[in-house]
This record gives sequence, C-alpha cells and structure tokens, in this order.
Amino acid sequence: MRLSYLTVADFRNVESVHFEPGGRFNLLHGLNGQGKTNLLEAVYLLGSPRSFRTSRLSELVRHGEKQAHIQGTVESGGMESRLRLIIEPAGRKVEIDSKAVHKASELHGKLNSVVFSPDDTGMVRMGPESRRRYLDRAVYMGDIGYLHCWHSYQRILKQRNHLLKSLDKTGLDIWTEKLAETGGEVIERRLRFVAVLDIKLQKYYSTIAGDGELSRLTYHPEGVQSTDRQQIREELLELFKKQQRSDERYGTTTAGPHRDDLQFLLDGRPLKAFGSQGQQKSFVLALKMAEMDNLHVIFGEAPLLLLDDMSSELDAQRNNNLMEFLITRDIQVFITTTERSPALLAAAPHCAVFHVEGGNLTFEGS
Ligand code: ATP
Ligand code: MG
Repeated sequence: MRLSYLTVADFRNVESVHFEPGGRFNLLHGLNGQGKTNLLEAVYLLGSPRSFRTSRLSELVRHGEKQAHIQGTVESGGMESRLRLIIEPAGRKVEIDSKAVHKASELHGKLNSVVFSPDDTGMVRMGPESRRRYLDRAVYMGDIGYLHCWHSYQRILKQRNHLLKSLDKTGLDIWTEKLAETGGEVIERRLRFVAVLDIKLQKYYSTIAGDGELSRLTYHPEGVQSTDRQQIREELLELFKKQQRSDERYGTTTAGPHRDDLQFLLDGRPLKAFGSQGQQKSFVLALKMAEMDNLHVIFGEAPLLLLDDMSSELDAQRNNNLMEFLITRDIQVFITTTERSPALLAAAPHCAVFHVEGGNLTFEGS
C-alpha cells in the first residue's frame, strides 16, 4: 500500500499542506510543536475510524475553523483510489472516489497504517483499559467482523446494566444469555488474534532487541478456558450467573470481556513490573511490527508504518536493527524526528526529507 499524495487543510495547526511522499522512507523533521505528529495523524485518520491521539473530533479542527479536510491518493493492488475526509466537531464524512461512504466497514482496509508513537508505551504501565482499547482496535484492523460483534456486545451490556440498576429485573436472564452469546464471539476473535500476534511478537522482539529475552503476549479471559465459541459462550454464561448477586449489588456487570486484560510478559515476568524503559519500548514496537506483518498477510500488502518521534524512542543499536529490518521490507515508512538525523538518513536509502515548521511542509530532497 502506498500513499502517493496527501492534502491537508485546517487540520490542527495545518492551514494548507500538499504532500507528495516518497514510496519508501519519508523523514519529517522539525522542532517541537511544529506539526509533525499532526501530519502523521492526518495520514492515519484517512484510513481509520478514529485518531490514535483523541476521540474528540473538535480537537482536530483548526482553531477558529468549522471543518478540517484531508484528502489522499492511495495505491493498492495495482489500483488507485481517492479518499476524502471532512471533519466537523459533530461528525465526519468520508468519500471514496467521490462517493459518500456511510458505514465504517466500507472504509475498512482501504488505507491501513500502523503507528508507533511515544504515547504507546504508556499502555504497558497503565490500567487494563488502555490495553483493551489497543486490543480492540488491533483486532478490528484485520477482522472486519469484530466491529459488529463488539458493538452488539456494548449495546447488550448497556441494556443489562440498565436492568441491574432498576427494581424490576424482568428479562434479566434473556439479556444475560445474549451477553454471553456476543461476548463469546468477542473473546473468540480476540483469542485468535492474540495467538497469531504472540508468535510474530517473539520474532520481532529479537529482531529489534537482538537478544534472547522471550517476549509473550497472552490473553486469559476471566472464567474462560476454551477457545471454541460455543464453549466460551457456556463458560461466560456460567461466569455471569456466578457474578449475578454482586452485579445486582453494584448495578453493573462486574466481569466479562469488557473487563478483561492483556498480559505482556518478558521472560515469563510482567513487563510492567520488571521491564526497563527501553525493554518496554522495544516490546511495544515489536508488537506494532507484528501487527504490521499480520495485516500484510491478511491484505496481501504491507500497511503504512508511521514512526513518531523516533529520536527519543530507542538506543542507536536498536534503531539500527529496526532500520536494517525495514530496508528489507517493501513498505512505505513515515518517520518524524526533531533533527535531520544523519545516522537515520545513512540507514534509509532514497529517503525523502521534509521540513515541518509552523504547520507547513517543505520538501528538502531525497
Ligand atoms: P513534538 O516534536 O513536540 O512532538 P510536533 O511537531 O509533533 O512536536 P504536533 O503535535 O504535530 O507537534 O503539533 C502541535 C501543535 O499543533 C501545537 O502547537 C498545538 O498547539 C497545535 N494544535 C493542536 N491542535 C490544534 C488545533 N485544533 N488548532 C490549531 N493548532 C493546534
Ligand atoms: Mg510530535
């Protein structure tokens, strides 16, 4: 997949930018607060239902403006398509080849990108919610059916919680069964994804870190041992019934896939407690590489890779390992740094270099 052209208008601090990226490596350098991450965010948003930085659309529109525009030309499978996004605080509109798109599923797979940004490492240290959010987004990227069952689960969960709070509990059993049914599907799809990613993660962690630490990604949904959807459903129903008393007391569903966590392990120990900062960063980066690889297998083409603020992320050795690996892959990469790093430019052949200042972009050569 290649992004061959991008225009951005009234998006964050970007008033108007025309960007013609190179087909392989692109370096966007500039001082702090100039708009580098904003431009990566614009690339990402063009193919995704939501930003990797915020869920509030109003933040994306340039101060004092009513709408932000992002438009891009994507080359994929030998075809070209034009994606257009109009963002307003109240909602977003998407067009593919000048036709309005109303369902998120229609945009799915049109422009895949994987981002690695400094904020991502936070999910190692933060609570389960941030890892769940990561998991849900990552599963959805390669599995279009996931979004549907995830939304159904959320809807049913809301209904059940509403009943748990009310005095009249009529119909609670039916909602509990429905919740177990869709919850079973959510868990099964998550398990399938984690099993694939876990194997890839191990490979990419050694590529980046160059050592023998064993990295693992595991998911143990509460109350569930099986990997078969029917059995998961039964186990989940069992769990909901066991919890019903306390659910009624708290007025909410206290266990289930909406409360589950992902485990990040290094040599069998929790990465959160025992991993150094560099190890945590390498782990998350390896996870992103694994995701990229998985999407490549599913779509037959590598997604775009957006590496935000690379200078601050890894040591020189790990950066080199990463670059050496990326050179061997047919993939379009966007890297932002605060300096026009000579080491990076030496490592990335035919890198197109751009300077970002005050929301403007200038091509400096390749
Ligand atoms: P760093 O190197 O510090 O990561 P950066 O170049 O990646 O910097 P960005 O995060 O891309 O910086 O841009 C930040 C700038 O964009 C800030 O100055 C911020 O005030 C501005 N900004 C963010 N949202 C808006 C908005 N809606 N309207 C106008 N400006 C905005
Ligand atoms: Mg930034």
